[in-house]
Amino acid sequence: MQVQTVLGPVGLDKLGRTLMHEHLFIAFPGAEFDPAATFDRASFVAEAVKRLRQLREEHGVRTFVDPCPIELGRDAAMMAEIAEKSEMNVVCTTGFYFEAMGLPVYWRARTTEEIAELYIREITRGIGTTGVRAGAIKVATGAPAITPLERKFLDAACIAQRATGVPIITHTQDGVCGPEQAQAFGEGGVSPHRCLIGHCCGNPDPAYHRRVVETGAYIGFDRIGILRLQPDEVRADNLVRLVRAGYGAHVMMSQDRHCGWLGKMARQLSPEEQAHIDQRKAAGDWPPPYTYMFTDFVPMLRERGLRDEEISSILEENPRRFFAGEALPAAGANWMPRATAAI
Ligand SMILES: [Zn+2]
Repeated sequence: MQVQTVLGPVGLDKLGRTLMHEHLFIAFPGAEFDPAATFDRASFVAEAVKRLRQLREEHGVRTFVDPCPIELGRDAAMMAEIAEKSEMNVVCTTGFYFEAMGLPVYWRARTTEEIAELYIREITRGIGTTGVRAGAIKVATGAPAITPLERKFLDAACIAQRATGVPIITHTQDGVCGPEQAQAFGEGGVSPHRCLIGHCCGNPDPAYHRRVVETGAYIGFDRIGILRLQPDEVRADNLVRLVRAGYGAHVMMSQDRHCGWLGKMARQLSPEEQAHIDQRKAAGDWPPPYTYMFTDFVPMLRERGLRDEEISSILEENPRRFFAGEALPAAGANWMPRATAAI
């Protein structure tokens, strides 16, 4: 059993500590037409390599999953170059973004089967002519409900999942539709433990998190540090609550950060937000570092009584089991079977 990284297959035992939802580079469609949006590939690659090396050397991270949607500037060759130079396992995905912020017109017009065919090709043969194969499938839905168009792409992902056996990683918007995604995956014949329902920490309600894990899916607390969407105190309280309720094996921790972005944001920033970013840029602290989870969030979990073995298992055992496709342990069962490195 192996995981497909951008540099080829890697044994499950080589995954180690894993960040399940981060990005290297993001470019919203159209940014390439902005004359002010400049991008120097060589200096970006150097910066990304530096940041991944820091994650590896200071915090023991061995695998970095970048579920960049196809149309958001996904660059498989650049990911491979960064993976090689940083000695980090990088996993990329096939799949598109959600209707309000993505889904190219050409692919909107395709049938479910045509979309599935693209996904299967990218998983089994490679992305374009790069030879780089996707190791998972990205699914995204918006708010307040899954649209019919999004459902078509979700159904295509189910076909591709069943054909290839790789897992599904999702985006949810505004902390809604997680249980609905899980239900749709079930209807598409995909086992719940092959699905990671992403960005659930965007919803502050513990009952919502319970609904997601009770479907049997993994749950993403994967926007740690994005304080605009949720205070980290709420994320930490809810994460510990899930672990104490016996669902620690379902939890995935990540930050949804990036280290390169083409042009401006895909929304208009307030003058205060822009001033904050300018200030952090001047301090050499923008985009914010991937190390935040270890330097700032892990201590919050410890303060709330989470043990280091529990934190390590979330970061190592859960991603390994997810990619392996092994069944999840029953709620409350021992979910820390492996000796894990110190956090
Ligand atoms: Zn993301």
